[in-house]
Amino acid sequence: MPDWIVLIKPLPLAGETVIRLRRETLVVLDIIFELLPNQPPLGCSGIKIPATRSVEDYGDLTGKTLLGFCIRLYGATTSQLYEAVCATCEKREGILRKGPASLIDFHAQHDIIELSDGKIRVEFKFSCYPKCHQAGDNGYL
Ligand SMILES: [Zn+2]
Repeated sequence: MPDWIVLIKPLPLAGETVIRLRRETLVVLDIIFELLPNQPPLGCSGIKIPATRSVEDYGDLTGKTLLGFCIRLYGATTSQLYEAVCATCEKREGILRKGPASLIDFHAQHDIIELSDGKIRVEFKFSCYPKCHQAGDNGYL
């Protein structure tokens, strides 16, 4: 992982670099703003995340300078980009008012996360496993 992302939890088992995740595992990352490869614009106060199912409310964007944030998942073996949950997980998650399930479900009060102490804390869960796609991947990158 680049040095501007710090994995807070879960931590890999001793001697391993791969994290084993279950759907219910909450992943917590810190983004260290001053280590970002591209300096954020002046006055930037946080990030805007996709308003997925577990984002409770929409934040007020007025007068704020925010960075867009997204997570891309690639198969560890095939390098293929995964953008949607598989049919089985789609069925399990069901289609709610907020629309179809997304691969990454952010957990946050608002879809805006403010910078605090030079860091931004991002929490999310995966809604689908790489092996679901049956394309030969057992992990995400
Ligand atoms: Zn799935």
